[in-house]
Amino acid sequence: MIHTDALVIGAGPVGLFQAFQLGLLGLSVEVVDALPFAGGQCMALYPDKPIYDVPGVPMCTGRELTQSLLKQAAPFLPATEGEGPHAHRHLHLGHLVQGMANAADGAWTVTTDRGLTFQAQSVLIAAGAGAFLPRGLGVAELDGAPNVHHHLPEDDSVAPPWAGQHLVVAGGGDEALSAVLTIAQTAQPAHRPSRLTLLHRRDVFQADAALETALRELIAQGSVQLEIGLPQSAERESATDGDAVRALNLLGADGQTRSLPLDHLLVRLGLSPKLGPLSTWGMALERKQISVSTASFATSLPRVHAVGDINTYPGKKRLLLCGFHEATLAAHALALALRPDAPSHLLYTTTSPVLHQRLGV
Ligand SMILES: Cc1cc2nc3c(=O)[nH]c(=O)nc-3n(C[C@H](O)[C@H](O)[C@H](O)COP(=O)(O)OP(=O)(O)OC[C@H]3O[C@@H](n4cnc5c(N)ncnc54)[C@H](O)[C@@H]3O)c2cc1C
Repeated sequence: MIHTDALVIGAGPVGLFQAFQLGLLGLSVEVVDALPFAGGQCMALYPDKPIYDVPGVPMCTGRELTQSLLKQAAPFLPATEGEGPHAHRHLHLGHLVQGMANAADGAWTVTTDRGLTFQAQSVLIAAGAGAFLPRGLGVAELDGAPNVHHHLPEDDSVAPPWAGQHLVVAGGGDEALSAVLTIAQTAQPAHRPSRLTLLHRRDVFQADAALETALRELIAQGSVQLEIGLPQSAERESATDGDAVRALNLLGADGQTRSLPLDHLLVRLGLSPKLGPLSTWGMALERKQISVSTASFATSLPRVHAVGDINTYPGKKRLLLCGFHEATLAAHALALALRPDAPSHLLYTTTSPVLHQRLGV
């Protein structure tokens, strides 16, 4: 059980700035996201595209904005705190928040699909359009297999699980082609697969022209094999042998079924946001978005606020700037609710020794 003043659901740009604002006001904070990386839409949908309307930043990419927000929130989201078995991370990636229930004294108990439980005095929902979950191939036998992946490893200094083995990448869009190019051109030869196959249902891609040209070159050189077929089912090892997928059964254009043996499968069909569990927590919703007050971004549940793309109110605009404003007012409202004795006057980061101490500057 992790105890915290504030739990932020969603590590998108607004969730990250929310963590910064809460920390600045002296509240302890934890952040959870279903994705294995922070940045929400900025990283999942447009990491290398330019943004021109963040105040004071004439241009930055989605990736650069995420890196800046992580750096800004770092004083309140240290990578690890404490030592040994009590070491603790404040940024919990790869966890889908599933349950939220009332606990004692107005707190909330929040649980994730991978077994984390938080006892939070307040909850800030910064869930965007919902949890970004990878699209699957629609083959039931692949569910839960240990050698089926959806993301490239974050840390490229560590050998990926498919190093020296046969990797099949499934997909025909930008996500699949850029993954194949990244893997085929991995700087450390020992980190490359021994064989790399791109699996797509037809020999036509829905991808950026430059990516397709680069891929066709790799296919012509023989560094990548192209396999055309529609996955129908998969063959799995027994649980005692590791439970891995050993082959995909494909339906070819000729109507024949054949088997594609593999060691690892990387499914790159894009991400789709799922509102999922949020809709069952009892908050007032309007067209799949959470209704909030514009003074504090409070929802209809006590000490639960919603900020960023997930909320709705008259005049709402789904822009970064608006989410950052909402996160600031939500943090101030919660600080007042959780620390009624604290001085309520506004402190400036420029001049306040208290804020400097919290920031570690
Ligand atoms: C192509 C594109 C270009 C854009 N360009 C601009 C621009 O130029 N300027 C601008 O101001 N805005 C732009 N936007 C909009 C901007 O990206 C969004 O307003 C912003 O990302 C919203 O941030 P957020 O943190 O509220 O939500 P998101 O970025 O959607 O992040 C929400 C996060 O919450 C996580 N989550 C949701 N539910 C759960 C759960 N149950 N458990 C765990 N995690 C969960 C999700 O996985 C996700 O990572 C653009 C959007 C797109 C798609």
